[in-house]
Amino acid sequence: MTNKYMYFIANWKMNGDKKSVNLINNVVKFSKTKKNKKFKIIYCPPYTLLNLFSNKLKNTKIDLGAQNCHQKEDYGSYTGFISSKMLKNIGAKYIIIGHSENRINGETDFLINQKIKASLKNNLKIIFCIGETLIQRKKNRTNKILSKQIEKGIKGVNKKRNLLIAYEPFWSIGTGLVPKTKDLEKNINFIKDTLKNKYKLKNSKVIYGGSVNPKNVIDLKKIKTLDGFLVGNASLNAKKFIDIIKKTYN
Ligand code: PEP
Repeated sequence: MTNKYMYFIANWKMNGDKKSVNLINNVVKFSKTKKNKKFKIIYCPPYTLLNLFSNKLKNTKIDLGAQNCHQKEDYGSYTGFISSKMLKNIGAKYIIIGHSENRINGETDFLINQKIKASLKNNLKIIFCIGETLIQRKKNRTNKILSKQIEKGIKGVNKKRNLLIAYEPFWSIGTGLVPKTKDLEKNINFIKDTLKNKYKLKNSKVIYGGSVNPKNVIDLKKIKTLDGFLVGNASLNAKKFIDIIKKTYN
């Protein structure tokens, strides 16, 4: 049982149509009845649903987030892209940057750094994803990779307090594989120590993402230094998402 302030972030990825916004009705209801619990729910739907979600989440305690943005901070001739300024304008408070599904498709640390800076200028809070691949893990390079991703991602960033780090090992996303609690705790603590010792960032928030579900959350929540979860697949199902939150606090 925990009483800690925790984040529960729903990453819907490339899923959902106009009707899907109603799938979150029960989550909205649930968030209203649990006033005494200290947690923050954030929904990150695809761009096409941001407006509908923004309306739905008005007057609720649930915040809206986006899944990515262009590195240019305002407007310009960038066909097919969306800027952080536009996301802020539509009601987003958070933005996921550096997700492994984008890193795999060529998003570099440099680009991630530019996107973080642009989003901070537009007063968005950053859900900054970092994590190692399976090969890197097998070669014992996890700490090196995490350090490098942090260093390059937040280079020259001033408002570091507005960063929420999402530790998401590539190999656990969408695979059903979850790190052993001990390993996960070690990596979470490594990230927190790095932020504290190298970047003077005390009390950083680090959440975990990768195949979180209502079953494995029972073990994951035992990690005292963990500040929440980034949930992909299971967040598409309101019952599962609510169960993840309930089981974290039971
Ligand atoms: C994610 O996409 O950030 C994620 C954690 O996905 P899943 O929960 O489906 O592994």
